[in-house]
Amino acid sequence: LTLLGLESSCDDTAAAIVRLKDGAAPEILASVVHGQTDLHAAFGGVVPEIAARAHAEKLDICVEQAVAASGLTLQDMDAIAVTAGPGLIGGVLSGVMCAKGLSAALNIPIVGVNHLAGHALTPRLTDQVAFPYLMLLVSGGHCQFLIARGPEDFSRLGGTIDDAPGEAFDKTARLLGLAQPGGPSVQAQALNGDPKRFRFPRPLLDRPGCDLSFSGLKTALLRTRDSIIAEKGGLTIQDRADLCAGFQDAVVDVLCKKTARALKLYLEENPSQPVLAVAGGVAANTQIRAGLEAVCAQHRVAFTAPPLALCTDNAAMIAYAGLERFRAGLSDDMTLSARPRWPLDKKAPALLGSGK
Ligand code: ATP
Ligand code: FE
Repeated sequence: LTLLGLESSCDDTAAAIVRLKDGAAPEILASVVHGQTDLHAAFGGVVPEIAARAHAEKLDICVEQAVAASGLTLQDMDAIAVTAGPGLIGGVLSGVMCAKGLSAALNIPIVGVNHLAGHALTPRLTDQVAFPYLMLLVSGGHCQFLIARGPEDFSRLGGTIDDAPGEAFDKTARLLGLAQPGGPSVQAQALNGDPKRFRFPRPLLDRPGCDLSFSGLKTALLRTRDSIIAEKGGLTIQDRADLCAGFQDAVVDVLCKKTARALKLYLEENPSQPVLAVAGGVAANTQIRAGLEAVCAQHRVAFTAPPLALCTDNAAMIAYAGLERFRAGLSDDMTLSARPRWPLDKKAPALLGSGK
């Protein structure tokens, strides 16, 4: 089976081709990503209208490039997988329209994919991880624990009740005058900092469950920064490094403690080869990785993280998630609609579905 996948739910336009042969590991034949960071840089965030227009312009080019790179032709595709939500509705619509056009022209089925399922199934694409596994999705827009039991069977154990950790890293960088994206800059500064000098709050640790909160952390950082400035007239290089180290320490601490709780719930299912998989841009953080690896070692659970290019938004994960659905006999037709909200866990309250 060979599927073309399309992704356009946020600020990356992407197309990819993934092939699955019986008994073999899935193979990424091509994966093309066109980011839009430059287009939104002046606005301090993604502008939905600009994003939608850029997706509409770039999707055809991405498809052409992916097909050329794969050495195949469009006629070799068995189906087209497309992100049908959740995300910015204009971008999702651009992708769904493009997929419908190709589906009609090539007379092949269309498979609507939940973007979060794409992220959550990536460990199966990269490491052939078997169900059920525990997934921690930590990115610029999401933070949630999921037990993945099947291509369409996810249970959400908890997630952030406000900001995502990537957002907190980005805001922290902004407050301290560091470069965007904030994750790598804060991590670099924290290397030279003392994590013990400032003790930032660890929200929700006193409450049971796997929910997290990151907005208070950012407020605490702002207050500490302002009190240093009020006292000394400005921040020294060391102040900045210590603030970053204290902030990062708090994020690592809450993520690890909540991961330990999620692991306990997951292990109650008695998986024969337990695995924690992480995905999302924040999983690139070396301290977070080291912390999670230690928690997994304590619980005798394997730890896996897909390569960064497959952790952040891409279309290979969409093509692969489409493959899993298609192989299970599921597909869509011209009535496929774009959904701005689409909880992965069917039992989850709609408002918490995106983990935002
Ligand atoms: P989503 O895919 O959930 O809609 P997104 O596309 O913004 O959100 P990603 O591309 O997965 O998210 O990740 C980007 C985020 O990862 C940014 O917020 C960035 O600061 C963060 N990040 C990248 N590298 C690091 C790092 N080393 N440490 C912490 N955070 C990092
Ligand atoms: Fe994403």
